[in-house]
Amino acid sequence: MDLASLIRNVPDFPKPGIQFKDITTLVMNGPAFREIIDGWKARYVGQDIAAIVGADARGFIFGAALAYAMGLGFVPVRKKGKLPADTIAEEFDLEYGKDTLEIHLDALKPGDRVVLVDDLLATGGTMAAMANLVKKLGAEIVEVAFVVELPELKGRDKLAGLPVHVLVQFEGE
Ligand code: AMP
Repeated sequence: MDLASLIRNVPDFPKPGIQFKDITTLVMNGPAFREIIDGWKARYVGQDIAAIVGADARGFIFGAALAYAMGLGFVPVRKKGKLPADTIAEEFDLEYGKDTLEIHLDALKPGDRVVLVDDLLATGGTMAAMANLVKKLGAEIVEVAFVVELPELKGRDKLAGLPVHVLVQFEGE
């Protein structure tokens, strides 16, 4: 299926100059959503994966569906102050300012093999922070998976050393 054509481009959201890739139009399409999750399931099945880790908030949509499809647990990485129990935190740079992501301290065990999921790879700051949290808990990252990559923003440079899997690239945006 042509997944790229199902992703809505919203110019100047949330601010002028940003081409926002809206995946709501993609997940509204049942067969497309299923194709993504089934494809990832086939990719990771048999790899001794312990859990799927997803990023707040659109990473939850794809990550939780993948975890369910594989019969695995889902671990949410959330924005600061949302997780109720003991957490560890990782700060990262945004275009303007900083943000913080957190994970529950008991969410993963040393040696757990995990796949990290988010909707979109832009500058890579979000996924790099997530990867650091997971590494701090001693888990092993098998791969980081995205639906969309904006290659011009060079997010892969921030993820050096991590295997990256992407379904759709939008060049020049
Ligand atoms: P980054 O940390 O720069 O790689 O940004 C990735 C996160 O920001 C993802 O969780 C995306 O949901 C969101 N994001 C960044 N840029 C865009 C964009 N152009 N369109 C849609 N989402 C974006």
